[in-house]
Amino acid sequence: MLVPARAVSELGDVDLETFRVEGRRLVDWIARYLEGAERLPVVPRVRPGEIRSGLPAAPPPHAEPLETILADVERQIVPGLTHWNHPGFFAYFANSSTAPAILGEMLAAAFNANAMLWKTAPAATELEMVVLDWLRQMTGLPEGFFGVIQDTASAATLVGLAAAREAVPGLDARRRGLVGQARLRMYASEEAHSSVEKAGIVLGIGQEGLRKIPADAEFRMDPRALARAVAEDRAAGWTPFAVTATVGTTSSTSVDPVTEIAEVCARERLWLHVDAAYAGSAAVVPELRWLLRGCERADSLVMNPHKWLFVPVDLSAFYTRRPEVVKAAFSLVPEYLRTAEESVAPNLMDYGVSLGRRFRALKLWMVIRAFGAAGLAARIREHVRLAQVFRSWVEADPDFEVVAPSPLSVVCFRFRGRGRSPADADRANQKILDSVNYSGEAYLSHTRLGDRTVLRLAIGNVRTEERHVARAWELLREAARPL
Ligand code: PLP
Repeated sequence: MLVPARAVSELGDVDLETFRVEGRRLVDWIARYLEGAERLPVVPRVRPGEIRSGLPAAPPPHAEPLETILADVERQIVPGLTHWNHPGFFAYFANSSTAPAILGEMLAAAFNANAMLWKTAPAATELEMVVLDWLRQMTGLPEGFFGVIQDTASAATLVGLAAAREAVPGLDARRRGLVGQARLRMYASEEAHSSVEKAGIVLGIGQEGLRKIPADAEFRMDPRALARAVAEDRAAGWTPFAVTATVGTTSSTSVDPVTEIAEVCARERLWLHVDAAYAGSAAVVPELRWLLRGCERADSLVMNPHKWLFVPVDLSAFYTRRPEVVKAAFSLVPEYLRTAEESVAPNLMDYGVSLGRRFRALKLWMVIRAFGAAGLAARIREHVRLAQVFRSWVEADPDFEVVAPSPLSVVCFRFRGRGRSPADADRANQKILDSVNYSGEAYLSHTRLGDRTVLRLAIGNVRTEERHVARAWELLREAARPL
């Protein structure tokens, strides 16, 4: 069989001259993609299985030119993408990839540094420590918080709660496991993210080991209900050990009263983990520093630059005041990972599940430098402003209502559906959502609050301007008109 003329040689990498040519073209293509993302449908109209059926089921037996492969990205992959970089992406927690971060990812792949040990990646390890300390300073967390990058907030919460389990006196779950031991109980509000419950499943705490504390009318954990629950559980023979407070809940971005929760934790000697996955980044805005009030007392905390600090997935910042406990929970050093520097330099594999660790710090470093602390704050401040503008439009429309406070860049609202039963009004909201999302111009998601279907408009993309928000509002009103 003929091998195409520009294919790779039998051994070694693709010819680097070809890489140069295709790489330049690709950077050009990416710039055009980012400039023109808003002309693409934000959600593709594809059926499950459609993209897959267009791709060869078997791998290519022979080398193919990069040019052909990249052409197939445009032809076969792009039409099946939901475009998170579309300025009309308002679903979940909208986020962005930015030029400096894309270059950072490219470099990280080129270096392929594995930051598992200091020795295997001295600069990656030390840059990670520096960049996470910059982020700590930018968000007003106190000195003494040790930061390490995890892939996601789910992993960071798992690490925080594993450390909490490690800190339970006399338990030694790491060595003995949990069978036949005291039954552990941890707490989070009913609005907490599912990653808390998932961490409980993984850590052997079990779903019953998570007690969900009721939230108040503004979806914040009730600290008095927390204190009562801990007392009840102790009396019933449980061993309470950890509380997860949320700063910026997934559904409504409510902020738990961390100061009061920290009081309960101190009194009851419980590990306090703070999930600030979304809202933590907003603390780079000086007037939003209040978000992390009380968090100086947290034992561990997570915030996700990949949600609202303009780096692409994945990059989650995990902080702890007690790195020695995290290390005691996770460090396991077989002979082949021993190094001469281990007593004087950190090996970041000791602070999480994975051994191999990507050089993620590079993209965050590049973003912080390319935008500057003031530039990051300005972008987040603008997102909050846009959300408040959208909220004012919803409030002024008698057919819609805002259903939760909007302290940040997410607005929860619904079509009132006057005269309809609750179930019928929920269906009408779902219809509106489907219709807007089908337009390809905007993408919103939904949640349930107070047992009602609620629409969410989340602003977080660096390319979103007021005209995009206005268009989403126009689409929502058009979709509601026939109802
Ligand atoms: N915590 C909160 C409050 C979230 O909203 C999310 C995701 O949206 C997560 C945790 C999980 O984030 P990740 O995807 O980084 O695991």
